[in-house]
Amino acid sequence: MTKYQFLFEWQRCPDGYAIYDLKGKEINDHPVVDDEQSWGRVMVARSNRMEIFNPFDRHAAIQRVLQDKKNTHGYLDFAKMYGLLSHPTEPESISTFYLVASELRTMFRYYDSGNISRLEKLYNESRWGKNSLRFEINDSGSVFVSHNPFTLRDALWVEFGEMVARGENHQVCAECGVWYMPDRQRRSNSKNVFCSASHSKNFHNRKIKESKEEKKIVLSDG
Ligand SMILES: [Zn+2]
Repeated sequence: MTKYQFLFEWQRCPDGYAIYDLKGKEINDHPVVDDEQSWGRVMVARSNRMEIFNPFDRHAAIQRVLQDKKNTHGYLDFAKMYGLLSHPTEPESISTFYLVASELRTMFRYYDSGNISRLEKLYNESRWGKNSLRFEINDSGSVFVSHNPFTLRDALWVEFGEMVARGENHQVCAECGVWYMPDRQRRSNSKNVFCSASHSKNFHNRKIKESKEEKKIVLSDG
């Protein structure tokens, strides 16, 4: 059986990112809803210091993180954690963040609602996924095909496609509200899902405490 592998390293500036307009002036005041002026601006690393890391190790549902970002403030938050999208160190246009985030949002809307034919069309028309394949041979001599996307933008697209092909999807933890990739997919009868055993425990302990308190209130009212 061929196993799927995904090798990816990216860079982020630990000193954060700044927004500049076309004249090279730093902009600190960003509208709640980005406009054409915002889209023409660029995001630039605040220093040459770069940390090399795998964004998917940091957050397994990173596409969900980006789809939830809807303005320059959000894109800055994203970059602070995961770096830029189409080049690790070159200035990134805000319009690139806008396009990738909104396209991810649409792809997830189709996928979550089971509209696979529209998802297929949009995914195949999205031209932002550049990928190269490599053979990797492990210690026991087995050959693996590994994906090596060029940029974070490409990696988001490749990993999204693999997730859909595996029939998997991200879930929201009922305790902390964070998107995560479950080890096992949700069973149809389970009402709540959790990112970890400890969050499942916290959730259920709180529910028990809440129902005890409700009973107490009912008793004291009577
Ligand atoms: Zn959680």
